[in-house]
Amino acid sequence: MNDKKKEPIWLALFTVLPVSLLWPLGEYFEEQGINQTLVSALLGGLGGLIGFGLYSWTKSKSTKTKIIGIVSILVLGIAIIRIVHTSSVEVLKTCEICGYKAIDKQENECNVCASNTWETEQADKLYDSKLEWLKDEQLFWFAEDDTSFVEFYEPNQIDGFFKDENWRPIINKIDVFEYNKE
Ligand SMILES: [Zn+2]
Repeated sequence: MNDKKKEPIWLALFTVLPVSLLWPLGEYFEEQGINQTLVSALLGGLGGLIGFGLYSWTKSKSTKTKIIGIVSILVLGIAIIRIVHTSSVEVLKTCEICGYKAIDKQENECNVCASNTWETEQADKLYDSKLEWLKDEQLFWFAEDDTSFVEFYEPNQIDGFFKDENWRPIINKIDVFEYNKE
């Protein structure tokens, strides 16, 4: 294939790629009450324009330069997606019982182990001390039929909720073993 015939392929790559990378970002703006389709169209359009600009600029350049251009679009696009994604994901508070960053702000409840937070638990006055509450709830949550299966730090994530690396249980495997005997 001669270079003339390849032109439409390059044009398609340079324009379709940024559009398809940026278009889906519109959905991240939905919750802020901004029209999703409008944002998608704007971002996609901008991506297409930049792509077309790059295409025009690399038109007379070597295939190597064109490939570098395409790769740059890919890398930049993925970087933008990652930035938008991380900034839109809310950082949840760590559950003191199971150690996952999964405390629902509205419900004051853990999305993983369904424990309440100590703040709400205090209102019920079921426990005299926080330590007592922590121990009770953790024993309940980490209890296994076979104590050798007890894992405080695994799995690293459940349903998209990550374990807080700084979290430590106040109970140990022996406590769980004793608890299971009862
Ligand atoms: Zn929890």
